[in-house]
Amino acid sequence: MLILLKKQVMNIFSFTAHFDSEEACRTHFKQERDKIGVKCQRCGHTHHYWIKAVWSYECKSCRARTSLRSGTIMQNSNLSFMIWYKTMFLMTTTKKGFSSKEIQKQLGLKRYEPVWAMVHKLRKSSR
Ligand SMILES: [Zn+2]
Repeated sequence: MLILLKKQVMNIFSFTAHFDSEEACRTHFKQERDKIGVKCQRCGHTHHYWIKAVWSYECKSCRARTSLRSGTIMQNSNLSFMIWYKTMFLMTTTKKGFSSKEIQKQLGLKRYEPVWAMVHKLRKSSR
């Protein structure tokens, strides 16, 4: 399952106004994920409780927990939701698109590899 920022008409000002915190990005991501639905990895049940304290879903049938990231493009990434959102913004806002190196520089991130992996996944998913 993949979730992306919709190609909405957004400029840098409305983007920063909307997504001004990690919490804002997570909340938006959850809303998008809820539209698609969550399937329990253990039993396949599709009804879940939301436990905000741990940012996870809990299966109503078997109580297995599914984190907000798990099963999405952000799974296995240690980068914050806000970094992902900023990257999606940078990638969709220009026609040419930013390179991984440029995104790393713009976001002030130390390590290149996680940025490269994120950009690679986003490119693959938007094809
Ligand atoms: Zn379950």
